[in-house]
Amino acid sequence: MAGSTDLLSAAPIPAGPPLWLLAELTYQCPLHCVFCYNPTRHAQVTDELTTAQWVDVMTQARNLGAAQLGFSGGEPLLRDDLEELVQEAHRLGYYTNLITSGVGLTPVRAQKLKDAGLDHVQLSFQDSTRELNDFLSHTRTFDLKQRVAKLIKAHDWPMVMNCVLHRHNLPHVRKIIDMAVALEAEYLELANTQYYGWAWVNRDHLMPTREELAVAEAEVNAFRAEQDAKTEGHKTRVLFVVPDYFEERPKACMNGWGAVFLSIAPDGLAMPCHNARDLPGLQLPNVKDVSVADIWQRSNAFNTYRGDAWMKPTCRSCDERHKDFGGCRCQAFLLTGDAAETDPVCSKSAHHEKVVAVVRDAPRRRNIPIVFRSDAESKALHEPPRSAPAAVAAPQGGAFTASGGRAP
Ligand code: SF4
Ligand code: SF4
Repeated sequence: MAGSTDLLSAAPIPAGPPLWLLAELTYQCPLHCVFCYNPTRHAQVTDELTTAQWVDVMTQARNLGAAQLGFSGGEPLLRDDLEELVQEAHRLGYYTNLITSGVGLTPVRAQKLKDAGLDHVQLSFQDSTRELNDFLSHTRTFDLKQRVAKLIKAHDWPMVMNCVLHRHNLPHVRKIIDMAVALEAEYLELANTQYYGWAWVNRDHLMPTREELAVAEAEVNAFRAEQDAKTEGHKTRVLFVVPDYFEERPKACMNGWGAVFLSIAPDGLAMPCHNARDLPGLQLPNVKDVSVADIWQRSNAFNTYRGDAWMKPTCRSCDERHKDFGGCRCQAFLLTGDAAETDPVCSKSAHHEKVVAVVRDAPRRRNIPIVFRSDAESKALHEPPRSAPAAVAAPQGGAFTASGGRAP
């Protein structure tokens, strides 16, 4: 494979294997979630890897030691070669996970994926109510998701149900849990919104208050206690991740930059985190030009924030630096303009007050339009200036763009 030597470090920093490979097969998605984690410039990404290129990437990563493979997107079921890729991944010895909205998982495709060796499915819901689920995704998908959940169980896959939490659905936490139990999910991941991608654009709309969060967390803990007391029958385990903005210390983002996680975007861009496309000054390598081994071990992009030599004095002198690795580079950049800064979630950061102010002031700034993920909005966001859309009423207060009332 031809190398792009200008992308490669002369002195690589030692790294273990990329244990977790995330294959973002496509950024296309039938849903329009207001908190979508895809890059807001997704509409510019059109040159998707072919089946043969994906098989090559999976093979190279497996040879490097990758063990777990997530098929994600966008909506990975939009790729009609998904079954072929799963079969190849299974043959290579990966533990495979499909991360899906459910759209496109028909009984026929479910059987084909089962036959291909798919190990595990993660199904996303937006809420426990049809109204909010369909509103936040701008699609009528609530009933379909219920059917898909039953299909997943009928094929005997372990099911993780995922629901992104924010101020609109936090009051429904117990109902979301009850839905997961009724659908016999093994795990319910209540993932409080991370503010990147479209969630960054809609941050003030989605940010809960500290009180709303505390009530929801108490409900989760009450449910966990009920489950612990249960001696028989199905148990659903609930993961509840407190949003960074409410903490005093950041999370160990990606378990450290370039430590275990390798994400490949639909166009072949290789990233240590699926949001890294938006970080300035990072020359991300592409699997079309550089081998996966060189990307992982020698690329400047993967070595830039590896280890702790890159850290600024606040983190470099901190005895917690091997616990959280200085937090999230994308969050540091979004909040300070410098990706090498201490993550401002940390109370030791000189920018911590920005995080405190966002939480404090979000309720006052909700009269701005909410933006649904769509190709049109993606292009509009990256072709400024654009005129402000007219606001329309939302089901639960706040205001939403006019595009929220029509197909984006
Ligand atoms: S968050 Fe919503 S819009 Fe984004 S990829 Fe997932 S289902 Fe699609
Ligand atoms: S100063 Fe840096 S290393 Fe220390 S706790 Fe804060 S983010 Fe982590």
